Amino acid sequence: MKFGGTSMAGTERIRRVANIVRAQAAENSEGVSSEVAVVVSAMAGETDRLINFCREANAIYDPAEYDVVVASGEQVTSGLLSLTLQSLGCKARSWLGWQMPMKTIGAHSKARIETIDAPEMVASIEAGEVAVVPGFQGLSLEGRIATLGRGGSDTSAVAVAAAVGADRCDIYTDVDGVYTTDPRIVAKARKLKAVTYEEMLELASVGAKVLQTRSVGLAMKEGVRLQVLSSFVGDDAVSADELPGTMIVSDEEMDELVEKGLMERQLVTGIAHDKNEAKIILTRVPDKPGAVAHIFEPLADASINVDMIIQNVGRDKGETDVTFTVPQADLARAQAMLEDKADLIGFNRIITDSHIAKISVVGVGMKSHAGVASTMFRALSDRGINIQAISTSEIKVSVLIDEDETELAVRVLHTAYGLDAVD
Ligand code: ADP
Ligand code: ASP
Ligand code: MG
Repeated sequence: MKFGGTSMAGTERIRRVANIVRAQAAENSEGVSSEVAVVVSAMAGETDRLINFCREANAIYDPAEYDVVVASGEQVTSGLLSLTLQSLGCKARSWLGWQMPMKTIGAHSKARIETIDAPEMVASIEAGEVAVVPGFQGLSLEGRIATLGRGGSDTSAVAVAAAVGADRCDIYTDVDGVYTTDPRIVAKARKLKAVTYEEMLELASVGAKVLQTRSVGLAMKEGVRLQVLSSFVGDDAVSADELPGTMIVSDEEMDELVEKGLMERQLVTGIAHDKNEAKIILTRVPDKPGAVAHIFEPLADASINVDMIIQNVGRDKGETDVTFTVPQADLARAQAMLEDKADLIGFNRIITDSHIAKISVVGVGMKSHAGVASTMFRALSDRGINIQAISTSEIKVSVLIDEDETELAVRVLHTAYGLDAVD
């Protein structure tokens, strides 16, 4: 069971979470009780608050020390949930990332889980004690605290589920499932009974923050059954087996659901937006072999993820403009790095813009049907929304637009693809 930040925001809400955990751990109507491991996020807003402290302390901060600071939010909630469970008469203890241990590799602030080898924790769970694990944090190869990137508690939960061989991994959040788009933006968004791993992976990677991308990839790889459901239930908490959330399913399971008439096949499954990217334009880059490699190699070395890339048609004099996007959080570092390499790359000016949003439509139906992209371009242009960049994959089309037009674009596309709920 994993509980997100909104579900953990304050002692009242933690008590509600403790009730849900207790209901799951208790015997069900058939007399079967579940062994439970719980992964928790920091209280809502806490991670942002801690990140701001880091920025104030040092604008270009050391990611290892940043991890020390931001991992603390989850330490607090794991202890508080254990205390609350104990107050309800439920045996529980916390297992911090370094105690399990959850070993990670890769860069600080975006580390990846390598192994969880926690025989003591497994023994404690088998002895009837609820294991409470702080999400988002692990132990690096150097023995330091590492964090898994924003939204990383979802991935902690899937990794723990895989490590203990759980029957299911339930992600409890502040909405009751995965919708056709963010239900906070489009009131007519529809809840999906099920969504395939492949589509959820793509939706998450283009900004549907309900699940962290890596959590979906890991669940797919490890065969973890994943469900998204709401922690905001009434006072009489019931076990998740009786709650209808959204199941993340394999293609075969989806085919069965469609055959039984429980799901409809749609051309577009969902629409996502992402306001966390920034655009960089390098003007008058030499149009010759090796020029783009000079731009992207230093960014790769610094573990900065580049997303959309456009190399414009060469101008006269063998020069071209190169436009690409990076996460907003990495913009300052990327800019500093590129300016440092200005002579090597040979560009004229660097122009940056954080006031952009990426809007994406996702659906496996695109593999076999034409016209999805043109519907998108037409719907946006009818509303006067200008497209600054485009990228596609087999099951996705993304465009870059002005951030102010995000909500409008998502709503217009939701209608254009026939996804609006009929009341
Ligand atoms: P948690 O703190 O529980 O991890 P998050 O804020 O990370 O919760 O994710 C839940 C939020 O994801 C929802 O409140 C919703 O606004 C947003 N969201 C974005 N896209 C979707 C979608 N397609 N379906 C459901 N929720 C979505
Ligand atoms: N607290 C972390 C974050 O806000 C991790 C998580 O909640 O999943 O990104
Ligand atoms: Mg989250």
